[in-house]
Amino acid sequence: MLNPTDERVIPTKDIRTHENHQQILASTVLDILYKEEKPANTLALMAITEKDLFPSENWNYVFGLASYTKRIGVSSIYRLQNSKLDSLNFDLCLKRLINISSHEIGHMFKMKHCITAHCVMNGSNGLHETDLSPNRLCSECQKKLQLARGFDLQKD
Ligand SMILES: [Zn+2]
Ligand SMILES: [Zn+2]
Repeated sequence: MLNPTDERVIPTKDIRTHENHQQILASTVLDILYKEEKPANTLALMAITEKDLFPSENWNYVFGLASYTKRIGVSSIYRLQNSKLDSLNFDLCLKRLINISSHEIGHMFKMKHCITAHCVMNGSNGLHETDLSPNRLCSECQKKLQLARGFDLQKD
């Protein structure tokens, strides 16, 4: 368990105001995590933030971002609850967070967007698509992960 990264370490040039709230440049979070938090023996590192993220100037927002090479990622819960987070929408928010984080972790293992099947590696253009996405890999992506990591599908 890592200590929360203090948002004061985010340079002000990487914070913008969008639709009356603050957003953080997602790649900056990855850079800070890589420099300050990732232990050498870590397989993958996923940060969770309550702040809204954006990937670049001309995008409105992004649910998450991962590095294909550094095995580091960040997911935001900012847009995952339909209203203020409470006991009624907690499960739905958690299901979305698991889905988005699983997708980003797939990217950390060099997996691209899946276009062949109903799969957690499908791209998502909004919560309606995230809600339709299964929290698992299709058999083809599972095979790719197996090849990349060299694990035994029967045993692991
Ligand atoms: Zn993706
Ligand atoms: Zn797939």
